Amino acid sequence: MRTISILGATGSIGASTIDLIRRNRDQWKVVALTANSNAEELAALALELSAEIAVVADESRLPALQSLLFQSHIATAGGATALTEAASRPADVTVAAIVGCAGLAPTMAAIEQGKTVALANKEALVSAGDVMMQAVARCRTTLLPVDSEHNAIFQCLSGNDPAHVRMITLTASGGPFLDWSAEQLAAATPAQAVKHPNWDMGAKISVDSATMFNKGLELIEAWHLFPVGLDKLRIVVHPQSVVHSMVEYRDGSTLAQLGPSDMRVPIASVLAWPARMDTPCAPLDLAALGELTFRAPDEVRFPATKLARQAAEAGGAMPAVLNAANEVAVAAFLAGKLPFTGIVQQVEATMARYSPTAPQSLGDVIEIDAEARRIAALFLEPACGG
Ligand code: NAD
Ligand code: MG
Repeated sequence: MRTISILGATGSIGASTIDLIRRNRDQWKVVALTANSNAEELAALALELSAEIAVVADESRLPALQSLLFQSHIATAGGATALTEAASRPADVTVAAIVGCAGLAPTMAAIEQGKTVALANKEALVSAGDVMMQAVARCRTTLLPVDSEHNAIFQCLSGNDPAHVRMITLTASGGPFLDWSAEQLAAATPAQAVKHPNWDMGAKISVDSATMFNKGLELIEAWHLFPVGLDKLRIVVHPQSVVHSMVEYRDGSTLAQLGPSDMRVPIASVLAWPARMDTPCAPLDLAALGELTFRAPDEVRFPATKLARQAAEAGGAMPAVLNAANEVAVAAFLAGKLPFTGIVQQVEATMARYSPTAPQSLGDVIEIDAEARRIAALFLEPACGG
């Protein structure tokens, strides 16, 4: 029996993880479950899974959580500090599935345990970069990628020396606007952006898929996770989302990982790693799929991947600035305050305005993130022209 904490238990990755835990209740003991504000769903999950502690990040929701769990033995807490404390509770595996840089401090607390962290929260790694990877090395933490592309690459690298890698190819579905014209993109609505053709995901990552910032963040994520260098990372558009990524070796062999577009596959691979476990996911039926297609990304209509590569090349704090500006822009777009094409413009403008020195600590990253958000928000004010 292993112990597990799920940070972001009420989200899309949280739900997929819990689905797998439910099917294997005898193998897992649940330590901490966390949510932003949905106390009702969090309480129901905590009761069902007999969690040790349930934590809401939004402190105003703590009384609701307490009254829902009043007659149970489940501890409750609220607020950002409580979230990080919960992530420090000993657990063999922590699934880091909070969305955005809000997940950084709790993910770092889980890393400090020196156990296993299953990382879905890509924004945390993009922002903290070397600060996180140095903590992973120092604490001898096993960091297992949940993001389907990185999980695919991790599997394709297994048993091979990264020194023999010629190229890593991240596949991108291209999102819901793959074939849209520049004029159509300018008028894209939040409802259209969150409707991903292949994956059922949270709103923020769905918008990131539509702008291609998701692939940009993933490029930076891969650059930190796999020691091959930025020049050996490329992106190819693959609208069917069946090949989740590929590794090409010096001898001309390319290894790929394929699977259904169901996050329970990569989550199962990290929960069972280095073994394997069953999932209820439908097997791939390649004959029914008929064909798999690939094409080069269009960085004119979708400049986000180019910006992300520039941020990685600039290094230091620039990926954190890019991420923070994107989080602000996506929230503004979802709130109807920014056009779709304004997202990339706002990120580019923030990167041009703010280039702090490289962070040395978690505190530095949090400060840079906050300042980048403040600057990005300035571009939303009417005086700045939106
Ligand atoms: P989601 O919006 O469905 O869920 C996010 C979770 O984080 C929820 O439990 C929410 O309550 C919690 N949360 C949100 N804001 C918070 C805050 N300020 N403080 C504390 N908790 C907060 O998102 P998701 O789609 O599950 O994605 C989670 C992470 O996994 C993201 O970083 C995303 O990029 C990554 N990811 C998701 C998928 C996917 O298929 N959904 C695939 C790959 C990677
Ligand atoms: Mg992905």
